[in-house]
Amino acid sequence: MYDVIIIGGGPAGLTAGLYNARARLNVLLLERLAPGGQVLTTDWVENYPGFPDGISGFELMDRMKTQAENFGLKIQSDEVTGLELSSERKRVLTAAGALEAKAIIFCCGATWKKLGIEGEDRLMGKGISFCATCDGPFYRNQEVAVIGGGDTAVEEAIFLTRFVSKVHLVHRRDKLRAARVLQERALSHEKIEFNWNAVPVKIYGEKGVEGIELRNVKTGDVVRKNVQGVFVFIGTIPNSDLVKGLLRLDQNGFVVTDDNMQTSIPGVFAAGDVRSKLFRQISTAVGEGAVASYAVEKYLENVAG
Ligand SMILES: Cc1cc2nc3c(=O)[nH]c(=O)nc-3n(C[C@H](O)[C@H](O)[C@H](O)COP(=O)(O)OP(=O)(O)OC[C@H]3O[C@@H](n4cnc5c(N)ncnc54)[C@H](O)[C@@H]3O)c2cc1C
Repeated sequence: MYDVIIIGGGPAGLTAGLYNARARLNVLLLERLAPGGQVLTTDWVENYPGFPDGISGFELMDRMKTQAENFGLKIQSDEVTGLELSSERKRVLTAAGALEAKAIIFCCGATWKKLGIEGEDRLMGKGISFCATCDGPFYRNQEVAVIGGGDTAVEEAIFLTRFVSKVHLVHRRDKLRAARVLQERALSHEKIEFNWNAVPVKIYGEKGVEGIELRNVKTGDVVRKNVQGVFVFIGTIPNSDLVKGLLRLDQNGFVVTDDNMQTSIPGVFAAGDVRSKLFRQISTAVGEGAVASYAVEKYLENVAG
């Protein structure tokens, strides 16, 4: 019987684990992949405080993991497949068996949205990617399309210019949603061509991506761009299937909490990208992990009497 089980080993989960382990709680973190979460898919992090020259995503997460483990956090490699949250003892079901805890911190993060167009499933991993850092170097001196107009799309388009000869940025509106500094960098970049009011309708290719068809949403005109890669950055969906029907979720499926990360069930807390909130970043996930861990300590003091 653990004091607390943390589900998900991204920045939110590792921070909650660091604090709870340092507070000498009996805490276990369950992670289905390698600890580190989405940050492992990014090359360079420039906006996490304390690293004035930036830091690689891998190194940042490796440091967070090591720091938490130095305080005694136990990390188990296991996928959580079910949760029973109705009684005071919470049950966590995994492939390796059932575990019990007095409190849960749910930090399962979020996953990238797909386009849902012809060719996408067939060419996934064969030219279609959600990770410029992982796959950008494969497209040296080639042309790629980047789909989206938010921070990530623009950031990744700029990153891709290190390798590719041209980025066709495809956005369904006539202006970007990204932060102004990113917009300025992208708009003045000689390797980035903007396709405004455009949506992708089909991806061509047999063994790999050979082109993408775009439709102008205002005129209906269709054009084909000969690209060898398509990078999709159109938003995220929460990894909240496990708690559907158990916890209160917002209309997009993100977990609703109060300011102390308390969900609709006492003793169950949520932190990071899986939460219903405005801004999904490492720094916000870290802050929420810390708040959740402290709220757990207070909760345990109260249930213990
Ligand atoms: C390409 C890219 C670039 C980014 N760049 C930046 C940046 O420069 N600066 C910045 O601040 N933010 C950046 N972000 C956003 C940042 O990575 C996220 O906001 C942050 O990782 C959220 O942390 P999290 O802990 O909430 O979730 P995640 O990082 O998503 O971690 C959740 C973890 O839960 C695990 N998990 C899910 N379901 C289960 C289950 N059933 N059982 C066990 N484990 C499970 C997942 O495997 C994952 O490891 C970037 C994201 C991406 C994808």
